[in-house]
Amino acid sequence: MLAARLVGDRAGDWDRAGRLPVDVVRALNTAGLLAPQIPTGYGGAGWSSLDSGEFTAKVGSLCSSLRSVMTSQAMAAWTIERLADRAQARSLLPRLAATDTAAVAFSEPQAGSDLSAMTTTVTMTGDTLRLDGHKVWVTAADHADLLLVFARLGDQGAVVVVPRATPGVRVHRRADPLGCRAAGHADVWFDAVRLPTSSLLGAGGQSLSLLVTTALSYGRMSVAWGCVGILRACLTAAVAHAGSRHQFGRPLAQHQLVARHLADLWAAEQVATRVCEHASRCWDTGSPEVVTATVLAKYVSAGHATRAAADAVQILASAGAVDGHPVARAYRDAKLMEIIEGSTEMCQLMLADHAVNRR
Ligand code: FAD
Repeated sequence: MLAARLVGDRAGDWDRAGRLPVDVVRALNTAGLLAPQIPTGYGGAGWSSLDSGEFTAKVGSLCSSLRSVMTSQAMAAWTIERLADRAQARSLLPRLAATDTAAVAFSEPQAGSDLSAMTTTVTMTGDTLRLDGHKVWVTAADHADLLLVFARLGDQGAVVVVPRATPGVRVHRRADPLGCRAAGHADVWFDAVRLPTSSLLGAGGQSLSLLVTTALSYGRMSVAWGCVGILRACLTAAVAHAGSRHQFGRPLAQHQLVARHLADLWAAEQVATRVCEHASRCWDTGSPEVVTATVLAKYVSAGHATRAAADAVQILASAGAVDGHPVARAYRDAKLMEIIEGSTEMCQLMLADHAVNRR
């Protein structure tokens, strides 16, 4: 498998160095695998959500930084597919399917969970746009060719596609994130950035919350599958160690308290896989349940990955307590999955709202 060959045993080194090799990202992109859900009509692989999800889990089990870059690319492609006019989709999607990389910028210093507090603005004069604002923590922005920027257009919302090399765009890499350290997180400033009006996806002027929900839905699905990958990596490492390391005259796996951790890990992987499969099937069949199923998948998978990664470190103990070890990386990477694409608390609020109002 190309992804396994490209990553090999180098994910720990990339994590410590804080960078993915550009050739690895480009190779995955050239193979159409950075965003394999892009429809074939736009030069993509046209994979279903289920197939794409399983692949995302595979990459997530190898390297969460690379999986994060995939999530950004595919979220950008999905946003373009949903919001762009025909000419924009025809111009942008084939590029994302093969050559260009993309990042998606919502968050600002004062707009994290509450994206309605966003202050980045786009204004239109004749056939020119002007973009001003400051985005933070944008995954892949350190190397991406294109930035999808969420902004205010009058009292509505808009998404603008900005080539990173445009004058007035300043990118500053985030130093030493807790996890997914090689995913190219960066803060980005837009100072009087001038762009053609064709950079505005669709006609612009839609509800900001609708635009944000469109992009985040894809991001949540991808992150949920990435968490399945983290769970599988932790399970593999924990089972191998518990079977081979002996203490008190028998393998760790035969000590009941360790066996309980293994049971919890396996159960977590199974549960996360099932909720993700359900959400992807909703996606693939166009079910009206898709929004709730996706939030549920993200909430369940991120919580399980966080707890299971802690269990895996506990089982490996000193053997896993080493920077760069797969379970040590999983422990740091998994925690971030509870923060991004709608934090655990935001997911809880949405699920509670569904529980109360569905009757
Ligand atoms: P805050 O919104 O300040 O929240 C702090 C805490 O309070 C959280 O636990 C939150 O759940 C809780 N909280 C807030 N409001 C409520 C409430 N009403 N009820 C209950 N609890 C509440 N942004 C992008 O735009 N693009 C990216 O690609 C991107 N990638 C990221 C990658 C990483 C690794 C990280 C860490 C962040 C990334 N972000 C990105 C930013 C991310 O989307 C935000 O961190 C996230 O939305 C949370 O916002 P915040 O960090 O400002 O926390």
